[in-house]
Amino acid sequence: MPSAYDETNIFAKILRGEVPCYKVYEDDAVLAFMDVMPQADGHVLVLPKQPSRNILDADPDVLSALIPRVQKIARAVKKALAADGITLLQYNEPAGGQTVFHLHVHIVPRWTGVELRRHAGAMEKPEVLEAFRAKIAAAIDGA
Ligand code: AMP
Repeated sequence: MPSAYDETNIFAKILRGEVPCYKVYEDDAVLAFMDVMPQADGHVLVLPKQPSRNILDADPDVLSALIPRVQKIARAVKKALAADGITLLQYNEPAGGQTVFHLHVHIVPRWTGVELRRHAGAMEKPEVLEAFRAKIAAAIDGA
């Protein structure tokens, strides 16, 4: 059995507004913001607002609402950054690579010949995160 949901995880704090984020999109079901240790420029995380630890304990209705939002944001990321492709990543439990225990999907823009950086590797500069945030948010608004 997976462990129970921990209300003190960093994404729960972001969802409660206790910790800031570089928000690109929000609606009734999801919050999306820039990954602060991006594996590529423009790396975005999409979180269902309803708490679950990961995909293993998530309500199927939450997953049904999540995927169309992931698609909408992925299209905007690709357009805003003129990416050649998009990689989706989603980690479950420590053995599966998960480091923050609130379900989320990674949207990682890809360019031909550009390798992914290390997962949760180096912290990006605030001004770089803000520049990508603004471009992506504008593309979602225009979608
Ligand atoms: P994982 O749980 O393994 O899917 O990864 C969690 C992701 O969250 C990593 O890619 C981290 O770089 C990212 N991350 C951790 N803390 C924050 C934060 N405060 N704001 C935005 N991204 C974060």
